[in-house]
Amino acid sequence: MPGTTFNDKRQSRRPRRAQSFGPSGPAAVGRGTLAAKKMYESLPSDTELARLARTPLCLLPRSLLRRYLAYQFRHQRRFLLLINVLGQLAFLSYWLADAYVIPDMARESLFTRSGLVLLAVAASQSALRWCRDMRVLDLVLPLSILMVVPFWYGLLERSASPAVQTYQYAALIFIVLANLCVRVRFVPALLVSLLISAVILDGSRRLSHGQHEPQIVFLLVYLPVLLFSLFISWSNTVAGRRTFLRHHMARHASHALTRANAQLSALVRTDALTGIANRRHLDGQAHRYWDGYRQHGQGFGLLMVDIDYFKAFNDHYGHPAGDACLAQVARLLESELRKAECLVGRYGGEEFAVLVGTDDAGDLSRIAQRMVQAVRAHGIRHAHRPDGLGIVTISVGGLKCTAAGVGSLQSLQSQADALLYQAKRSGRNRACLEP
Ligand code: GH3
Ligand code: MG
Ligand code: MG
Repeated sequence: MPGTTFNDKRQSRRPRRAQSFGPSGPAAVGRGTLAAKKMYESLPSDTELARLARTPLCLLPRSLLRRYLAYQFRHQRRFLLLINVLGQLAFLSYWLADAYVIPDMARESLFTRSGLVLLAVAASQSALRWCRDMRVLDLVLPLSILMVVPFWYGLLERSASPAVQTYQYAALIFIVLANLCVRVRFVPALLVSLLISAVILDGSRRLSHGQHEPQIVFLLVYLPVLLFSLFISWSNTVAGRRTFLRHHMARHASHALTRANAQLSALVRTDALTGIANRRHLDGQAHRYWDGYRQHGQGFGLLMVDIDYFKAFNDHYGHPAGDACLAQVARLLESELRKAECLVGRYGGEEFAVLVGTDDAGDLSRIAQRMVQAVRAHGIRHAHRPDGLGIVTISVGGLKCTAAGVGSLQSLQSQADALLYQAKRSGRNRACLEP
């Protein structure tokens, strides 16, 4: 032991569980990841999500629906706001076409278009502002279009313009706009689309005054546009679901990585055999304590702990029993120091070190005595120790960083070592602290 320092990086073996010292310890990281774990445990597995994303329809299970709608709300709300405004402006701008093609209806068109747009603006803006259900928001524009189509056909029917038959082809814009803006659910959009088509085709029938040919020509032009725009609407909704699934998988992967990182950093600072802090963590913390002392005058203490006659214990009870004894002593020290502002770690072999967040000599002495007392009181059998005490005990040596002659972390540590060996020489099973 003499000659070793906190910089002497003898590493412990495979780590086992998290050390719970300090607010930034692995236990805190574990708490942070718990919420994420809870959030994802009810969801389909990554394999299932990947399988769903590969299917042609990307149909989502019920458990994902709420998340999907929330995701679409976050990502599509702006688009819907914009497309509604653009749709309303386009509808208003068609007054110019009305004034040119059906001038006898220009006045009526202006008033009605303005009225309808005001109504649509009020309805769509309040829906987009107050409603958070994407299934409703997705239908705002198609339903607005369904509302205005009869008005426009009414104008065409009442107009005496000879260009009415040709002009009615402008109705294609309605169905295109209604279908292209759909993002979330295809089936309701399809139903609204069919209703709009029914109104348009009925208007076309009335405009043709019983003649079949104009109706057939209109139908031949209208149907491919309807089917084409429905296809776009369908692929937009499928693409939306696929993007959502991929986004979800990416989040899964990122959470898994965060969890793995947290576990890894806990493992890196934990001693495999005893589950308390390992030498690496002790070294890091000792430097932090020392820096805190040098920079801000925050004093601390260092206690070195060694199990007495442990070689004899191993020799008589065997190595596995020795390991169990080490783990038990570590648990005892840790639980004894739980309430104090301390970090206890395995320094190496059957030695432990305790960093105590105070440089009060009385506190240091009390903590050291409590540890000695706790191990002795536990009465782990050690029938083969040469002094005949019959139980496992520890010796402790330590001092505060402000003690005379301490000029560096290394000197603090070697003085603590020296005091530990003073405790050994004075008969073991005791603490020896710098007065
Ligand atoms: P002292 O009271 O002077 O400290 O005597 P000691 O026998 O405890 O000290 P010594 O340094 O002679 O022996 C330490 C023993 O600790 C030697 C080794 O067998 C045992 N030891 C060190 N690491 C481990 C371990 O991980 N597991 C087990 N079972 N034993 C260990
Ligand atoms: Mg030793
Ligand atoms: Mg020993």
